Amino acid sequence: MNIFKFGGASVNSADAVRNMSNIVAAHRKQPLLIVVSAMGKTTNALERLIPEADTNDAERQSTFQQLQAYHHDIIKGLYGPSSDNVVTEALRQDAHRHTLGKVDSFFELLSMRMASHPTTYNFDYDQTVSLGELISTTIISDYLNYLGINNRWVDVRDIIRTDANYREGNVDWDATRLNAQSRLLPLLQADNEGLDQPVVVTQGFIGGTVAHTTTTLGREGSDYSAAILSYCLNAETMTIWKDVPGFLNADPKVFDNTIKIDQMPYNEAIEQAYYGASVIHPKTVKPLQNKGIQLCIKSFNDPSQEGSVIGPFKSIRPQCPLYIVKHDQVLLSIMPKDFSFIAEDNLKTIFSALASLNIRVNLMQNSALSFSLCIDNNPVLLKQLQELLSKNFLLRYNEHLQLITIRYYTQAIIDQMVAGRNILVQQRSRTTAQLVVIQ
Ligand code: ASP
Ligand code: MG
Repeated sequence: MNIFKFGGASVNSADAVRNMSNIVAAHRKQPLLIVVSAMGKTTNALERLIPEADTNDAERQSTFQQLQAYHHDIIKGLYGPSSDNVVTEALRQDAHRHTLGKVDSFFELLSMRMASHPTTYNFDYDQTVSLGELISTTIISDYLNYLGINNRWVDVRDIIRTDANYREGNVDWDATRLNAQSRLLPLLQADNEGLDQPVVVTQGFIGGTVAHTTTTLGREGSDYSAAILSYCLNAETMTIWKDVPGFLNADPKVFDNTIKIDQMPYNEAIEQAYYGASVIHPKTVKPLQNKGIQLCIKSFNDPSQEGSVIGPFKSIRPQCPLYIVKHDQVLLSIMPKDFSFIAEDNLKTIFSALASLNIRVNLMQNSALSFSLCIDNNPVLLKQLQELLSKNFLLRYNEHLQLITIRYYTQAIIDQMVAGRNILVQQRSRTTAQLVVIQ
């Protein structure tokens, strides 16, 4: 069995969904589990619709309407009069109406959630943003069926079991494996007679608690979902279909002349993701490494190209420096009000506040009287952190920063990167240099 993950960009329009269907149609020789993210920038839009979000009613209404219209347009593009000539007009209209009805009931749920009383930010976040994946997979599963690619839609909240750590659910591996083996595997049994093997479509990013509340696995978590399912089902390979030709040594949106990595060892991929390489989610590689499952990264624009493979290799090929840039960073300086040293006691208070809000630290540095940390900008959480720490600490922060990480750096590379830029923090190990600079 193979597992394919399609991210938001690979399903952001009717044409993109058609392209994705072609890829699926070309890979039916083995059972296929398809894990899909929300379409395009849907998750960002849903974040603005959480009861606690800092948006007024008019903005909310217009975001909601735009999001609904966006999905309606995609559905229309898939079943519109000029669409694939596979069925009769009556069937086409019927299929269109059927999907529209299902998707609109998710939008009704969304408007109910928007109107509900805020509880806690993280809980409300998960109940709201999870709709993006439920909607995208509904559209895609229906469309594949319409094309004759018979498939089952599975609600992954019944499979991936997490604790109630909302916004960053921790996977209960035993329960998830049992669910995957008992509920998913039977749907993916190879059919010895058939030429085309079974297909299952499910959601990335989301999971469920024992109490049937919805959780999410952290932003961009669909890769991780696919890896969890690959691990639990002993998949042969997992493939992430991306808008880039493979794992590049730098983000092509930021750097010219990027180099495609053909082979990358698991541990290098884990380091890359840890430092923020956006090509894969940080938790994705470990479950695959544990079972020796190879991870392929391939271009959905050019599916015949080889892409990159992450696996049990000794070193990266070809050898080259690797650049990772994290944007919209905040550098926070935390100083004890009583001028006590930054030592174990203070660090314990700071880290438990960070942990209680699920804030991930991207870089840290301390001096005698100040502890600095670089985090992703999230105004709601930053304010809550300030409230938690303000009794004992003075907090200052700089916004609009970039965190640049260079693996296998040389001095010449660093000089070139920082020329004319304002550096706030600099850290180096033998292999890795990190710089916090003004954006
Ligand atoms: N839709 C989610 C996000 O945008 C998960 C994902 O794309 O992997 O963060
Ligand atoms: Mg995404």
